[in-house]
Order: sequence, then C-alpha cells, then structure tokens
Amino acid sequence: MKPIYMDNNATTQMADEVASLMRDNLTLYGNASSMHTLGRNASSGLEWARGMCASLIDAESEEIYFTSGASESNNTVFNIARELIDSHSKRNRIVTSTIEHPSIIEEVKYLKEKGYRVDEAPVDSSGMVIVSELEKLLGDDVLLVSIMTGNNETGTIQPVKKISTLAHACGALMHSDATQAIGKIPVSVKDLGLDYLSMSAHKFYGPKGVGALYVRKGAPIMPFVHGGHQEKGYRAGTYNNLGIIGMGEAARLAAQNLEREHDYLWSLRERLRKGLLASIPDIVINGNQEHCLPGTLNVSFPCAEGESILLYLDMEGIEVSTGSACATGSLEPSYVLLASGLDVELAHGSIRFSLGRYNTTEDVDTVIQKLPPIIERVRSMSTRKV
Ligand code: PMP
Repeated sequence: MKPIYMDNNATTQMADEVASLMRDNLTLYGNASSMHTLGRNASSGLEWARGMCASLIDAESEEIYFTSGASESNNTVFNIARELIDSHSKRNRIVTSTIEHPSIIEEVKYLKEKGYRVDEAPVDSSGMVIVSELEKLLGDDVLLVSIMTGNNETGTIQPVKKISTLAHACGALMHSDATQAIGKIPVSVKDLGLDYLSMSAHKFYGPKGVGALYVRKGAPIMPFVHGGHQEKGYRAGTYNNLGIIGMGEAARLAAQNLEREHDYLWSLRERLRKGLLASIPDIVINGNQEHCLPGTLNVSFPCAEGESILLYLDMEGIEVSTGSACATGSLEPSYVLLASGLDVELAHGSIRFSLGRYNTTEDVDTVIQKLPPIIERVRSMSTRKV
C-alpha cells in the first residue's frame, strides 16, 4: 500500500518534471565558470533557473543568489546584519519574532550570547505577530526586521507587508523567510516590500540541498562564502548545477500552477478539518483559520500524546508530524504553539497535517476514517481524561 504522505511542510516529493529534467542533465558535468562550450552550457542552465526563481517571487534575475537552502539564506541575512553592526553602523538592533524557524531562532540565541541586541515580537493566540507590539520595538537604532511569511507549524500567514512598511518607515531593512509560502501563495518581493527573502527548493517539489537568497538591488550584501567569483564573489563554491536546474524547474511549475494548487490544497485542508471536527470530540484547531497556508492543518487532541498518535498513524501508512520535523528527537512541546499561548498539554498533543500537490480526497477520507479509533485508543491509555 502506498503511504499517505501528509508531511509536505517537512519536505515534498520531487515533481516528475523536476526529476526528469535532472535526469536529462545528470551528465552535464561542465563547470559553469569555465569559458568553453561545456562550461557555457552549464552556465546557461543556471541562468535559466535563476530567471525562473526570480519570476516566481517577482524579482530580477540579478537579485537571486543560489545557496544550499533556506537555513543558509536565513543565516546569511543575519550575518550581513552582524557585519554591518560590527562595522559601527549607527543601527545596531535586530527585530524578529518568537515563532521563526530554528535557523533564525538559534542564530538569534547565538547573537544574543555574543552581546548583540535582538528583540522578538510576540504573537497572538493564532500565531500571528502582533503588529502593534512589534511597532513598539521599532526605532532609529533598528537595522533589520525579519518576519517569516508563513509559519511551518501552524501555517499562519504573517502580516509581512504591514510590517515591512513600518520597518522601512524607521529606516530598517526587511527580511522574510518565505520558505513555506513559496509555491503555496503568491509571494511578490515588490508587493511585500522586501529587501531580503529566503527560499528552499525541496519545499516546492524541487531537490534538497539547494535554495536561494533574494537581495534587493542596492540592499547591503557582503561575501558570505569567501573563495571563487561565483555569485558575483558573494557566495563562492563550484555550482550545484543539477540541484539548481531542478529548483528552476520546480519554480517554473510552481508559478504555472499557483492559483489552481492553492485552491486544491485549501479544499483538501478544509475537507480534513471539517471531517476531523465531525468525527473526533474535543479537538482544537491551531493557527489562524483565515490567514493560513492552504495545505497546513495543525490540530491538538487533548489527553493524547502527539508522538503516540504519529506512531499509530504511521502503522496505518499515514505520515504526519508533531510540531516541527526539525524538532524531532526532542520531546519538548512546540515552541511555536507555546508562544501562541497554547497550554503545554495541548501543545504535546498536537499533530501537523501538511497536504501537498500529490494528496487526493481519498487520502483525506482515509485519515478521517482511520484517526478516530486511534485517538480513542490513545486517550483510553492516558491518565488524563477529556
Ligand atoms: N524556514 C522555514 C520556515 C522552514 O520550514 C525550513 C525547513 N524546515 C527552513 C527555513 C530551512 O530550510 P532548509 O532545511 O532547506 O535549509
């Protein structure tokens, strides 16, 4: 039986079109920096992919820098800020939020330990950054504001456009980690008013280990990997031709199917939400239900451990996650749900369903059918009662 994969926020299956183009290019071994024909062929593939990534986010090709993924892109933006602060910029504070991805949360922890000034804006009970609270943190000493576009755990879409307007009004630069939003909702760097944006190919049916950083023309940038002249000398290292070409194709498909895919994912998600509410008593739907990434449904099951639910679902061939896959291995409740004010018990009993392009209504109906007896069993083993 083919597993029902509902963990698309952790990673996605590569699209057939992506795999096929990568297969065709498997032997394209030219170094894109070489001037001979083989090198130029590799280079033209890269530049095609750069154009595809740029047009997906409404940017110019020369504003796209290839990286190994969103973790590197996010770290790079904070490193640029740190370099500016170290070179005595009159602005020396960073503002972010409590619900960013670990590649920002951990960077912030590190920066704070080193004595840098970073403030985190709180979120409301739906996991949305409270703009009025963030506004209080802004001032003429703020260098960078970094707020994600859509949250990986709850799916809550953040008011990035409003925040970028406020950030720019006080003279700060604006970054958004759009890793989860790309390919699911329209993302325009111009409309959102971004100076920097991070993305990762494997979240939109591309290969793993490749991503991009958008840097607005004129925004500060400095070398983040020193070495060769690749990426205008800012990110050295021989190109990952194949990965980049795969990301280009994934970007092309995402742009082409965006509206249809958004509506399809939302309809599956709503079918799942309504089905679970109707068949399982006392469940809590987490995240903002109005401003939500279309495929994400985060549910708490009181008096049931998320990990037990996950394992029982896995035995039925249904693959989901508890909180963030990045936190797997730790039994700590999700910091995103806790930051939204959810109590520890509910956070422990949460499951994230993240639907993708290859899920079907039959998949959703199977989950609606298989989950109620699992919850009943897990609850019956719990010392706590609903
Ligand atoms: N940001 C967000 C919101 C993510 O969901 C992820 C992946 N879990 C990342 C950044 C990091 O992406 P990668 O692991 O590809 O570097």
